[in-house]
Amino acid sequence: MTLTPEQALEQAALAGIHCLRIPTPFAVGRVNCYLIEDEPLTLVDTGPNSGKALDELQSQLAERGHSIDDLELIILTHQHIDHLGLVEIIVRHSGAEVAALGLAAKRLANFGEDAEREDQFAVDLMLRNGIPENVAFALQSVSRSFRGWGSRAEVTKPLEDGQTMPFRDRLLQALHRPGHSPSDTVFWDEERRILIAADHLIAHISSNPLITQPLDGSGQRTQALVTYIESMRKTREMPAEIVLSGHGEPITDHVALIDERLAKHDRRKEKIFRLIEERPRTGYELAQAIWGNVAVTQAFLTLSEVIGHADLLVNEGRIREADDGTAIRYETTG
Ligand SMILES: [Zn+2]
Repeated sequence: MTLTPEQALEQAALAGIHCLRIPTPFAVGRVNCYLIEDEPLTLVDTGPNSGKALDELQSQLAERGHSIDDLELIILTHQHIDHLGLVEIIVRHSGAEVAALGLAAKRLANFGEDAEREDQFAVDLMLRNGIPENVAFALQSVSRSFRGWGSRAEVTKPLEDGQTMPFRDRLLQALHRPGHSPSDTVFWDEERRILIAADHLIAHISSNPLITQPLDGSGQRTQALVTYIESMRKTREMPAEIVLSGHGEPITDHVALIDERLAKHDRRKEKIFRLIEERPRTGYELAQAIWGNVAVTQAFLTLSEVIGHADLLVNEGRIREADDGTAIRYETTG
């Protein structure tokens, strides 16, 4: 029998996992952090770096009889600032250990420089895919203005894919599930069939597989959607009863949700193929054909979507990239 979201939260709470909803300044709304009442006392994700987020975190911890100073372990699910901005402040108060994917540790430690490099990478990607300069530079300055909500993080417990973390009352297995970001990591309690999935899977919104630089700093770009689909297929095979997300309500039928998402990506891929069949187009032209003006205001997001689906078509051998030196156009191979 499938649980309702309320029942799922109750069941997680009985297992000592409490959802703390922390405010963010972003369109996504609140971020879900999870307090795990166990030894060590653990917080999964922290919320963004703001006084408001810190106040709410303190008061929600106090409701359960804890303070920030009591935290012994912070687990970070991925590199996005709405999830980790308070980590340095919490560590300063509590001396907590910080666990995160080892592959992401360098990136997390060099947050400022790395964010700057990532923004430059995004500008280059936008320009190469036909987005006008003024749009690309405007988005770069928006991204810079958000940087203060983030933080660097010193990972003291680097995790490997598949590694099991022992607690007094449970085991949590860390599983690397890249796609939404290259560092996405989910945490699996096999005994209770609870998966802490953060932004890998969100009930009410399709997680954006954003194109980024890979974690190894090799300078290439990720095939974010290709990777994300592989990751979703792995999660689909897990016998999870409750999936706890980074935003919104828990998921109690992840197989149905993943099937729905896979079908949606397939439909969008075919739509993009038909547009390219009509005539060769840049990523920006494809985004405009699908989303109109949203392709301007959300240029990087929509471009990431288009490139993600184009990667699938390139890998299937149905289209190819044609580079005339100024911009990349997609054309069919047939
Ligand atoms: Zn995220």
